[in-house]
Order: sequence, then C-alpha cells, then structure tokens
Amino acid sequence: MQTRGYAASSGDTPLAPFTFERRAPGDRDVHVAIEFCGVCHSDIHSSWNEWQHTSYPFVPGHEIIGRVVKTGRAVTRFKEGQRVGVGCFVNSCRTCASCKAGRENYCDTPGGLVMTYSSVDRDGTPTYGGYSRDIVVDEHFVLTIPDSLDPAGAAPLLCAGITTYSPLRAAGVTKGSRVAVMGLGGLGHMGVKLAASFGAEVTVFSRTSAKERDARRLGAHEYVATSAPGALDALAGRYDAVLDTISAKHDINGVLNCLKPHGTLIMVGASPEPLDLATFPLIFGNRKIVGSLVGGIPETQEMLEHCGTHGITSDIEMIGPDQINAAFDRTVRGDVKYRFVIDCAKF
Ligand code: NAP
Ligand code: ZN
Ligand code: ZN
Repeated sequence: MQTRGYAASSGDTPLAPFTFERRAPGDRDVHVAIEFCGVCHSDIHSSWNEWQHTSYPFVPGHEIIGRVVKTGRAVTRFKEGQRVGVGCFVNSCRTCASCKAGRENYCDTPGGLVMTYSSVDRDGTPTYGGYSRDIVVDEHFVLTIPDSLDPAGAAPLLCAGITTYSPLRAAGVTKGSRVAVMGLGGLGHMGVKLAASFGAEVTVFSRTSAKERDARRLGAHEYVATSAPGALDALAGRYDAVLDTISAKHDINGVLNCLKPHGTLIMVGASPEPLDLATFPLIFGNRKIVGSLVGGIPETQEMLEHCGTHGITSDIEMIGPDQINAAFDRTVRGDVKYRFVIDCAKF
C-alpha cells in the first residue's frame, strides 16, 4: 500500500516529501489514517543521526493519533472509525518474561523490540514513523484514546506522556512527594502536569527565568533558574525524585545533591554526549540514578485513562508538513510551547 510522508535521506539533509510502501494489512493488523503526530526531540536526534544508529531514508514520528480505516480478520479490539494511538514501538518478541508481563519496551530477546521508525520489523521490512498519512500496526501495539481528549493534544501522550508517567510511578511519586523536573520542553511539561496530578509538590529546574509563569500555570509550585550562580545551594537534600528530561550534555552532580537520602534521579533525557558523574553525592546518601524507556503497552493505556480522567493533554503548536524543519530548529533552541504537532492530513 502506498502512502506519503516526509523523510530525511541523510543526517545532514532536511526532511522532504517522500512516497513509500506500507505492508498490506495482515489478519492481526490495524490500518490507521494518521491525523496528528507530535515532534519529539528523539525525532531530531535520529533525523540528524546524533545517536549514530539511524537508517535512511528515515521517516520520524512516534506520537501518533488517527482513525482506524480497516482491520484484519483476526482483530478483535478495534473497529473502523475508532480513534486510536501508536507510540514508540510496534512489535516485540511477545514470548519473553518482560513481554508477558506487559513490559514490551524492555523485551528480553536481543533485537526483539521493534521501534516505530528506523527498525526492521519481524517480517523483515523497515519501519517508518508517523510523519505520514497512514500506518499499519499489529493490534497489540495500538492504544485506545479516551473520547474526552482533544486528539491533537493527546498525540504527545504517546511518547512524552508515557515516558514521564512510567518512571514517576515506578519511583513511587504520590501525594506529598517532592519532585523536581529538569528541562521544561515536551517531556518536562508533561512531567510537571502528571506529577502534579499525582498530588506531588513540583519544582521546575529550567536554565533561565523565562518559563516561570508557564511552569506555574502547568502545575509547578516552585521554580529554579539553574543558570543563576548558587541556584541549587539552598536545595540540598530536598527532593524524593528528580526527573531529568534534558536533551543535551549538562551537569547532574549539583542536582544529585538536591535529592533526599535514598532519592532517585530519573534519567529520560538522552544526551548524545556522555555526562560526567561525581561519585560522592551518589555514595553519601545512597542515592540512585535510574534510566527509563517510554513504558509498556498496558501502562500506556493506563496513562491514557489517567489523562482522560484528569483532562490532561499536551500544550501544542500545530504545524503543517512544510514547517517541520523549522520546528526542529526551534525545538533545539528551546523555542517550543511545549510540543509541535503535525497536521498529518496535509501530507
Ligand atoms: P525538548 O522539548 O527539546 O526539551 C528539552 C529541554 O531540555 C529544553 O526545553 C530545555 O529546557 C532543556 N535543554 C536543552 N538543551 C539544554 C542544555 N544544553 N543544557 C541544559 N538544558 C537544556 O525535548 P523533549 O522532546 O522533551 O526530549 C527530551 C530528551 O528526552 C531528548 O533527549 C529525547 O531524545 C529524550 N527522550 C527520551 C525518551 C525515553 O524513553 N527515555 C523518550 C522521549 C524522549 P529549559 O529551556 O527549560 O532549560
Ligand atoms: Zn519520543
Ligand atoms: Zn520480548
């Protein structure tokens, strides 16, 4: 089946219109007409080959919302016309302990996890992302979107939402927890909304004071401009968890010291350059650093229901396909409030 989208042909060429083939829907597949797709910083790292594992031609996009066009004969959970979502991965081995436990994102089989883009699917075909008109996905990896949510604002929940929801829950963030969110971009602003919805007391760590008013509107109780000299001095030992969403190399040793004893620094930001770790703030206080990759399918559905109940969506700026390259540049400059979403009907 032919579809249209935007692709990069190398790490140093802009995205451009691209026509390509999707597999014909099989018995267990759902064919989705994509309505909206969020622009995640991972799309940018990957398009520009900053992590050095991108396959070209490369169609980005893993915050996908659309409507079901057609279902395969064995599909039971979806019907034509239904609004659905697709996130960061579209297949896994389904047989390992992690997959059986609904943590497909941590599939134990080497190469078992098939990402929505720049991967090879289990049938041997390359995967292409959501900067396109259509996608065909096994029903196991398709999410149901609560009717109450605005579909464009819901698109970023499929990555930015679950990537912040999952580790905040895993760290035990709940009513009365003290949480700091580092970096107020796409992930960061969802982290603030979600931590606040769990009843936590939330502080935003941003480079400058420019986003303070927004941070408070999004649900933050306190705000720290980290570029001010000595900004973290008074915060030693204060937080149960710090959620680090920063997309580039930065200092983590100062914030480690802001954790309570046994507190957790959650690393979701994926700097292409390694970070420097001072061991003393980790050792004194038995603090932990954990990484986290999006979330499994059952937890993603749970997050969507939570957002439906609490009326949580992303703050978005809608763009057309011809604005994607400019949106990449603006995101890298920190000029995004707080997620670009592509109107995919225009591809
Ligand atoms: P984003 O919208 O660009 O936000 C990143 C924020 O980081 C910026 O708004 C900025 O916040 C801060 N920042 C940027 N450059 C910085 C620097 N040099 N020093 C200090 N702070 C800086 O990006 P995003 O879409 O939220 O993604 C964030 C990161 O998470 C990316 O690396 C992405 O690849 C990764 N990611 C990981 C997962 C996962 O599963 N672990 C999933 C999705 C994305 P301020 O302006 O407030 O300072
Ligand atoms: Zn993402
Ligand atoms: Zn598996």
